[in-house]
Amino acid sequence: MLRSITLASAIILSILAVACSENYPGEDERLSSVAATSDFETRLRFVESDTDNWILHGRTYSGARHSLAAQISTRNIDQLGLQWYFDLPRDGGQEATPLVVDGVIYISAAWSIVHALDAKTGERLWSYDPNVDRSILVKICCGPVNRGVAYWDGKIYVGALDGRLIALAADSGEELWSSQTLDDPDASYSITGAPLVAGDKVFIGNGGAEFGVRGYVTAYNADTGEKIWRFYTVPGDPDQPYENDILKMAAKTWHGEWWKVGGGGTAYDALAYDPQLNLFYVGVGNAGPYNPLVRTQGKGDNLFVSSIVALDADSGKYVWHYQTTPGDSWDYTATQNMILADLEIEGTSREVIMQAPKNGFFYVLDRATGEFISAEAFEKVTWASGVDAETGRPIVNGSAKYWLTGKSVTLFPSAMGAHNWQPMAFNPDTGLVYIPTNHMPSSFQAEQNFKMQPLGRNTGIDYTEVAVPVDPALVAKAKQTLRGNLLAWDPVRQKPAWSVELAEPGNGGALSTAGDLVFQGTALGEFAAYNATSGEKLWSFDAQTSVIAAPVSYQINGELYIAVLAGRGGALGRSAGKFSDPNLINRSRLLVFKRGGQAILPSPDEPMLTLPDLTELPINSDVAVQGGKLYANLCASCHGFGAVGGSLAPDLRYSGFIRDQVAFDQVVMEGILRSQGMVGFKQVINPDHSVALRQYLVQQNQVARKFGDTERVGR
Ligand code: CA
Repeated sequence: MLRSITLASAIILSILAVACSENYPGEDERLSSVAATSDFETRLRFVESDTDNWILHGRTYSGARHSLAAQISTRNIDQLGLQWYFDLPRDGGQEATPLVVDGVIYISAAWSIVHALDAKTGERLWSYDPNVDRSILVKICCGPVNRGVAYWDGKIYVGALDGRLIALAADSGEELWSSQTLDDPDASYSITGAPLVAGDKVFIGNGGAEFGVRGYVTAYNADTGEKIWRFYTVPGDPDQPYENDILKMAAKTWHGEWWKVGGGGTAYDALAYDPQLNLFYVGVGNAGPYNPLVRTQGKGDNLFVSSIVALDADSGKYVWHYQTTPGDSWDYTATQNMILADLEIEGTSREVIMQAPKNGFFYVLDRATGEFISAEAFEKVTWASGVDAETGRPIVNGSAKYWLTGKSVTLFPSAMGAHNWQPMAFNPDTGLVYIPTNHMPSSFQAEQNFKMQPLGRNTGIDYTEVAVPVDPALVAKAKQTLRGNLLAWDPVRQKPAWSVELAEPGNGGALSTAGDLVFQGTALGEFAAYNATSGEKLWSFDAQTSVIAAPVSYQINGELYIAVLAGRGGALGRSAGKFSDPNLINRSRLLVFKRGGQAILPSPDEPMLTLPDLTELPINSDVAVQGGKLYANLCASCHGFGAVGGSLAPDLRYSGFIRDQVAFDQVVMEGILRSQGMVGFKQVINPDHSVALRQYLVQQNQVARKFGDTERVGR
């Protein structure tokens, strides 16, 4: 308690210090005072103006991802070059925001592996591998990714994929403590998000809403790893005592036997903290399963799915909530990053929290009370016609209620969201929020005779379209309707200021700088800088692979560096398949840029693969379509939609194992390629499923040959 009060006062002091700039120490004086203190809380006073380090996930507790460093600006950005790079294994995508503390850069790579590197030279200082069991792949949606570590007082914290929260010594990588955050480590939870440290606590959530689990966040003692409090985001079995009164209230918004299917509401990514209010904000995930008939008898708001929930940071007690998608049935998570800002709205300065969740509306709320201020669509939205200005509730279109119509309905945004985990950034000088947006639809359909599968993806997505083989010309046409944007959004006027169109959805997180720049990577491998005011592209770099993580900036000896993780992966990158460039494989690296940097990436040449000729193998097209739906649900997130290998896992149309059912079963059911990362799926599928899957893959092989698509970059 005492420590967090101290921290709160420290932050207030820091805000005062920044506000009165003449009282603020000069650059050199500040550097020495920061370097001299052993008290990390004292140091946090300077976090806002500390351009040398990037200590918190969103740089400051505001989460704005706006650097005050202006050495690189619109005027000299052309001098920016690659200074060094650090190669990473290619067995997973890279989504982490690096942290930089005192000349050391800390990254969490795929499989929750942490590396500490000299921020000036790239020399590796230590690595830590939590040795996560690879069989976890059957119960995660989007690859073994990790979105970042947290730092506090000489410790690095990482949430391991298998649910452990681990503290490491920042100087050596030595494990200091490890706490299993899952009561049942076999349940289908996973951790991919960055922990958040505030006061003497470290906070962490988890993912798994599609797999029949119940979400929660937990606070641990930052020094010892001891559990302090836990807040469940959805109510459990009403025959058991409710954990608190607010869950008793929340249970009134659920119907039927939701606890038997989990309910979802997992907080897999965004956490935020306001030191003055001592409020801890949780971005809560989607409801699971998607179809509300099987989850909640088709009724109720299902609190607190798809909500922002504010808790007292010390006690974990509920303070307020705002639900962006009541009764969510489309995977419209509210786990997207939240930014705290002070905005002038209708002549009054308001302390707000801003979010652009998956559902396509940009929200501005009062962060002390949760009061709804405004919401407008920032992307194409067809599931709702708007957000009611009085009630703050979305006006849901009848056609979006696929569980009532029984029909497949195609909606914008997709289940991937108009905005996903890739962080947006806010520049208080331009007043603009820079959002990586996705322009793509999903088809939803209520599955007949739905049965919960123990480890299956229990969704309501209609996979028919992606399961049926189509002419590449039609795919090319479909691709034209998919895109991404770097959108500069005015949160006060709730209007776009400018927008840059990007060829594909699933682009990188944003970094804003006082040099009037916005940095962002793309799915197609360009790392670029834009004029923050106009959107004009000023600089770009060929990263040889997707850049989906968010960049950071730091300074050493007065020189500014920009760092970003490159590497294809995550939900969209892995599954892009026939909707993307199959030759743009995962080449995972940390890229670090500086003025005058001269480093050059190695040539991306890779061996080419030739499509095996399976023309003679017989196909039953009905069975193949069933296999296609299974494939889309279970396999595409690694092996790519349409069986076009995305980036990480082999293109199965090219696999020798699809020639023969016995060999195929050995791989798919028994997991004989486990050491290469392909675990057995026999907990999830039966032998008939395996036959259907193989039929589908052989069919896709034959389709590829028919259209002359017989070569690709290998892996
Ligand atoms: Ca989800």
